[in-house]
Parts: sequence; C-alpha cells; structure tokens
Amino acid sequence: MVGEPSVPVYRGRTVGGVKKEQLAARAGLVPRNWHRALTDPDAAGHGPFTGSPCRPTTVTDLLSPSERQRLLAAPRPRRRLPLLETLPSRARGAVLAPEVRETDLAARPVHAVWELTLRCDLACRHCGSRAGRARPDELSLPEALELVEQLRGLGVREVTLIGGEVYLYPGWLELVRAVRAAGMSCALVSGGQGVTLELVRAAREAGVQSLSISLDGEPETHDRLRGKRGAHARALAALQAARALGLPSAVNTQINRLNLAELPQVAERVLALGCHGWQMQLTVPAGRAADEPELLLQPYELEQLFPVLARLEARFTAAGVKFLPGNNVGYFGPYERRLRGRLRCPGDTACSAGRSVIGIEANGDIKGCPSLPTRGWVGGNVRDHRLIDIWQRAEALRYTREHQGGRLWGFCASCYYADECRAGCTWTATTLVGRPGNNPYCHHRVLVGQSEGWRERLVPVAPAPGEPFDYATFQLVREPWPPSGVAPLAHSLSPRELP
Ligand code: SF4
Ligand code: SF4
Repeated sequence: MVGEPSVPVYRGRTVGGVKKEQLAARAGLVPRNWHRALTDPDAAGHGPFTGSPCRPTTVTDLLSPSERQRLLAAPRPRRRLPLLETLPSRARGAVLAPEVRETDLAARPVHAVWELTLRCDLACRHCGSRAGRARPDELSLPEALELVEQLRGLGVREVTLIGGEVYLYPGWLELVRAVRAAGMSCALVSGGQGVTLELVRAAREAGVQSLSISLDGEPETHDRLRGKRGAHARALAALQAARALGLPSAVNTQINRLNLAELPQVAERVLALGCHGWQMQLTVPAGRAADEPELLLQPYELEQLFPVLARLEARFTAAGVKFLPGNNVGYFGPYERRLRGRLRCPGDTACSAGRSVIGIEANGDIKGCPSLPTRGWVGGNVRDHRLIDIWQRAEALRYTREHQGGRLWGFCASCYYADECRAGCTWTATTLVGRPGNNPYCHHRVLVGQSEGWRERLVPVAPAPGEPFDYATFQLVREPWPPSGVAPLAHSLSPRELP
C-alpha cells in the first residue's frame, strides 16, 4: 500500500539522542551537504570510480527475449486521440491570490519551456501530452509574440521550445527571432521527423542555438516507442543535418523497461554524432505512457539502472560531452556525486517548478513546469492575466516555493534527505502515487528497502482519462524481498565494485 514508513525517522537534528549525521555515516549514506563540502566528486567515502571510460558498457536486459518480443509487437492501446475540440483551456477565469508574498518575489523564472503547439508528426506511445492534433485554442502568432515580451519582462533567460512539433506551428521562425531579439537564448526539442538541412539552416539563421532530438533506443525499440516505422532513421538524419551545418545538437532519451538495455548503444550514437550533451529522464505514467504500464520501470529496477548510468557518465566525462540526468532520475544514492556533481546546482534535487522554471501550454495556460499535469497545476491563462501576475499570485505555481515538511508523506516524510530533496520531482510523484511529496522512483529509497528486506511495486488500478498530461491511478505495494522473507546481503554502496 502507499505507505507508512517503517524506517528510522531522520527528521530533526537527532534521532534517539544521536545526531542524524552520525547515524547516516554509520549507514554509509552520502552526506546531505556533500555538494557544499566537497569539490572532489570521488572523495569522502565512496572512493574512485574504477569503470573503464574507454570501454562501451554492456547491460543485462530486464526483459526475457520472449517478453521483449511481446512488448515490441504489442498493439497500441485502443485509446483514441483525445477529442481536443471539447478540451479548451480549463484555466480561463482562474482567480489569483490578492497578495504577493516575499517568497513569490524571490522566485525568478530563469528557464521557460514552451509547448508551441500540440500538433505533431509522431504519436509517441509514451508521450505525456498525447500530442498529435493541435489544441483548439492555441495562441496566435501575435499573442505568442506578446508573450515573448512578457517573458523578457519577467527575467527569463532561456527559452526551450517544445511541442507537439515546433516546426508545425505557423510562424515558429518569427517567434525564435523574437526570443533572440529579446535577449533570451533559444533551444528546440524535436522528434526530428521533418528536420531537413533546409530546416536546420532556417532555424540557425533565425537564432536557434541548440537542437535536441529524441532518441529512445535502437531502431526497432525507438520506432515502437515513437509509433512510426523509420522514425529512428529520420531522427539520426536530423542529428546529422545539425552536425553538417554546425548547429549544436543534443539527444534526449526516456528510460523505460524496453530500452534500458540499449542505453549503451544510444550513448555510443550520441558520442559518434558529435552531440554536446545527452539528457535522460525516466518514463513516468503520464499521458499515453499511462496507457502502457508494462513500459514503466518498477521502482526496484532502479538498482540496475544506476550503475549503468554511472559507467556511462564516466565515458561521457572522458569524452568531454555533457551527461545530464533529468530531474526525475533520483536521488542521493552512492552515484549522486558522479551523476549530479558537475551540474550547475549539484545536490539541488528539489523540484524547481514555479521557482526557477515556468511551463507554457500552447493555449496560454501557465504551469510551474511543462511536464506537470494540466488538471490542478495550471495557475491561469495569459489571455486573462499578465504573466507576472500568474507567476506571483497563482496558487498552483506556489507549491514548491516554501518547503513545508508536513507535505511529505510515506517514505519521503522520514527520509534523511527530506530537507534537501523534498521528494524530488513533483511531476513524477504525482503521476506515480497521485499527489506530490512521496516519490518511489528514488535510488536511495530502493537501497534502503533492499538492505531492510522489502521493495516497492507499482500496480495499475485505474486508467487515465485520455487527456493531455493526465495520469492513471496506481497502488504502491510494499512487499518482502526476496519473497522468502530472508533479508538480502547488505548491498554494497561503493562504486569501487563496478566492473
Ligand atoms: S525522493 Fe524521497 S526517499 Fe528519495 S531522497 Fe528524496 S526525500 Fe528521500
Ligand atoms: S516537476 Fe519534475 S521535471 Fe518539472 S521542474 Fe519539478 S523536478 Fe523538474
């Protein structure tokens, strides 16, 4: 069941009269303040990383050959595309709080992620926004250009344009020019299906500074996940076009049961294509991914993922290419220094939605983060309010601005890292267990469970309604592990053991 913790309660300065730092050291945990205290990511306890950065990594598949074949051949769930004509913005007329608080003034959106249109030339089977057809009430180009000015006024420095597919929005190049003219950087995220040399040239001339293409595995896996034969080849062609014209490119990958074993191959392609970075995040049951729960990693399977990520990070660092675990690849396990130590805010795993990030849906609905569910997380619409008023006074955007320990529940409520982590990614927790504050996709939590003889499993209970950014209902079951009830040998937390 979603759950009651049976682990030591670490909140407060001491537990049973013993300082919690001492308890944590005994348990072999990474210190909570490691990013402030250490400059050497291999120092203080976990020793140097000994995996060879020159050797490609191999990974044992989570799936048996027959399971893989069955998943690859599984037909799309028979959920039709949402009837978007019936789903205009639900945020119109939202009422804002009358006052602006100190914490609202302190929050500054550095990074805006803007869904320009929901129209898409793919219909990916793990797409959180269920993209395909345009929303019925998307912002017109004049409205979008006005919003660029408001973003500048709010102090945004980086704009990432996403979709749907950005280049299917009429006037997208003019919008890019406006973003750059307003002094903000501009990056594009794309599935790459229509990214030709001509399109790259036009994007570059308009001022796009980075093109990130989705690559989710080897061709068969990628095409299955993206729902279109040949999608992988076209994504590679997009990256080659960017390289040919000198537009910096990156790859983004969703990690799930189908592609975990292929991450090393994706990594080799990213390196071979001269990309400047590789960002990855875990597939969560949002949008269409909620319709295929078999794709999702079970929380306990993170134990197999993280050593793989640590090896790949070493390879990328040796090659001088950025390795970027996304905000939902968490948290605080023995590889934390390695995976997040070189990021701009090492150790800052707390959700930045509504603090330094702002998300825009194509119809002008504003959220603290583009991935968050629409229902319950949209603060207002720019057709009704000025952006700054929504940012400062919408309750939905205030959630992360003040850390209230009482909002954490389940295992996270008693976690040693609770004050730093605050249960990590709000989107991930909400889609997995129905509300934020308790996040089963956590390496530290998996390792604690392993050392105590339990693990957590997600069991689908009710399907998602079938709207953009919706989510299904799961039960989080805690079960003895291994099933005999015999506690496993203590898991070694040391990266020294990597082959
Ligand atoms: S997600 Fe929860 S269990 Fe994991 S480190 Fe954060 S607070 Fe702790
Ligand atoms: S909800 Fe998750 S993805 Fe969005 S800002 Fe928070 S941590 Fe990042």
